[in-house]
Amino acid sequence: MASRAKKSVLKKAVVKKKAAKMAVKRAARSPIRAYMFDLDGTLVLGDRSGKSYDVLPGAIETLTRLKEQGVPYVVLTNGSAQPPPSQAAKLRGVGLPVADSQMLTPSSVTAGVLSQRGVRRVLVLGSTGVGWCLQQAGIETRFVPDDDHGAYDAVYVGWHPDCGMKDIEMACNAIWGGAKLYVASDVPFFASKQGRTIGYSYAITGAIRRMTKAPAIITGKPSQFALSYLARHFGVKKSEVGVVGDDPLVEMIMARRGGATGIGVCTGTTSRAQWLKQPTARRPHRIIENVGELLRG
Ligand SMILES: [Mg+2]
Repeated sequence: MASRAKKSVLKKAVVKKKAAKMAVKRAARSPIRAYMFDLDGTLVLGDRSGKSYDVLPGAIETLTRLKEQGVPYVVLTNGSAQPPPSQAAKLRGVGLPVADSQMLTPSSVTAGVLSQRGVRRVLVLGSTGVGWCLQQAGIETRFVPDDDHGAYDAVYVGWHPDCGMKDIEMACNAIWGGAKLYVASDVPFFASKQGRTIGYSYAITGAIRRMTKAPAIITGKPSQFALSYLARHFGVKKSEVGVVGDDPLVEMIMARRGGATGIGVCTGTTSRAQWLKQPTARRPHRIIENVGELLRG
């Protein structure tokens, strides 16, 4: 009896010790050494075509202060329509201090991943902006429709509003010929001035996968390819990145999975009440009304 009681006491002590260890782990979050800002619903609300932007409250002030303080930051959008320098110029045009080198799209990440994997020839389903970063990285980038039906190492799907069945057929043939399927964004909706707007690459990828059953390699948020790219870009650990965004399924999943700090804004797809209802894996570590609150308190 005595030994059973002793065992039970010991077991309780072990459980207590484990709980204490976990509490310390939770409390000991890494300090934020660099920030990633989402674009749509976080810094701006654009129209559906991405041609005009309304800057969200506090966005200019917050980025300006970070710049003054020398805190590294980038904007990583899941929108792949434009080459990063064109997008950065548009943001500077509405007052946001974003240098060309601080503007990233999923195609920036894709170019890195494809180069690392030795991919040489890619079929792109997307606008010229989608393939721009790949071309810059020296990858042979062919756009649909491509008359040269040689073999491709990869198919890359991005912003492609004009996608037709022939494009999907060509992508399927490339995959059946051995190409891997890479996707900029596997997110069904994003926030715009007109409200919820559909993500074209999500729909196109759905069609390709229904035909080919090929696994999709996602390079944009919430993939860990994207978070690792950010950490490398900043020269910090993934856990030292502050991820600021409006979408639990995009920025918060990425932050939580990679051990980064997630900060949720209420200016895009998610209200404060909706943030609070999220399961832990999608919940921000901090909720702020708008990006202007980031550096307060
Ligand atoms: Mg967003």
